[in-house]
Amino acid sequence: MNNFSWYDATTLKEAQNEADTTVSDMLNKDKKGSSIIKSGGIDVMDLMKEGLITPEKIVNIRNIPGLDKIEFDTKKGVRIGANVTLSDIEKNSVIRDNYQALQLSVSKAATPQLRNMSTIAGNLGQRTRCWYFRSVEHDCLRKGGSTCFAKNGENDYHAVMNNGSCASVHASSIATALLAFGAVLEIALENGEKKEVPIENFFVTPYENIKNENVLKSGEIITAIVLPAVNNKTKSYYIKQGARQSYDWALADVAVVVELSGKKCKNARIALGAASPVPIRANSAESILTNEGISESSAKAAAEAAMEKATPLEKNAYKVAIFKSILQRAILKTV
Ligand SMILES: Cc1cc2nc3c(=O)[nH]c(=O)nc-3n(C[C@H](O)[C@H](O)[C@H](O)COP(=O)(O)OP(=O)(O)OC[C@H]3O[C@@H](n4cnc5c(N)ncnc54)[C@H](O)[C@@H]3O)c2cc1C
Ligand code: SF4
Repeated sequence: MNNFSWYDATTLKEAQNEADTTVSDMLNKDKKGSSIIKSGGIDVMDLMKEGLITPEKIVNIRNIPGLDKIEFDTKKGVRIGANVTLSDIEKNSVIRDNYQALQLSVSKAATPQLRNMSTIAGNLGQRTRCWYFRSVEHDCLRKGGSTCFAKNGENDYHAVMNNGSCASVHASSIATALLAFGAVLEIALENGEKKEVPIENFFVTPYENIKNENVLKSGEIITAIVLPAVNNKTKSYYIKQGARQSYDWALADVAVVVELSGKKCKNARIALGAASPVPIRANSAESILTNEGISESSAKAAAEAAMEKATPLEKNAYKVAIFKSILQRAILKTV
């Protein structure tokens, strides 16, 4: 790992002045800049240890006051500061009682030690774990090369949908739950203004821009993630399947958020993680639940519908069966 200097930012402005590029731009090598921000530091340090980035300066935003709070308002919803750790979300009683799918997603991510370090914003900013992407010896499409090594290589963990360009999957399983709740990211801009970005628009598909996985530009810092208000008829559930119980990313994960009215399902939002290069909604599955309500048969039909457009690669067809199984179970867990 290269030597680097360290800057402890105490305000957003300071961090924006000190950092002159993003991790993605540094990975792409086609833009100038030598200093990047880090929050928990887990992915930033991994990329440095892997030799993929060599920043001269790390700007630590972890200690900026005010970014580590969870605020709840019954009308507005819950606002989670960018530096709140996954452990703090896991233990928060408001989130456990109102946003169960989010609580489950954080409790299943990584390991307890990693969750103590990981921040929610850093989790969304982390880069893919495609093993070719993580290898300095493989200059793949995402890093400006001309080949996707996974297509005809070791693609066991890769995308089973929308995988015609880059077949990597996003590493955040928290994003799956946030997408199902319709979360919105608050982002501080360099000119002092703020913008709000729905999580649906935060992630970038390889078809849109193969070198980036999100819309963040240099000087933009996530300050909070807001989940809209829920009512006592809102139920949610989340299931992650990994190769191991702990210390691993998802092979497949699903989040279901429904608003029930008696036996009817007024609204349904279903998100799939590790299915596609970015977390996606399963719209056809949602329609089945809102048309038919929730039952054994509608859950099965919805799970089939969620995977009807699957185009698995040579070694990952097994993931389609996992998605169908965990989605069916997650839907039935909401009633
Ligand atoms: C073995 C292992 C298993 C894991 N398993 C899972 C899992 O199952 N599910 C899961 O979701 N995650 C998993 N992770 C990811 C981990 O939990 C961290 O969330 C992730 O690596 C990065 O979080 P961080 O806070 O350390 O971010 P950092 O490494 O500090 O930052 C990551 C990126 O986000 C940018 N960034 C950080 N904060 C901000 C901000 N406020 N605004 C704008 N950009 C920002 C940084 O510049 C960098 O590009 C795993 C990690 C490991 C090592
Ligand atoms: S799947 Fe994407 S990240 Fe992995 S080798 Fe192919 S282009 Fe690179």
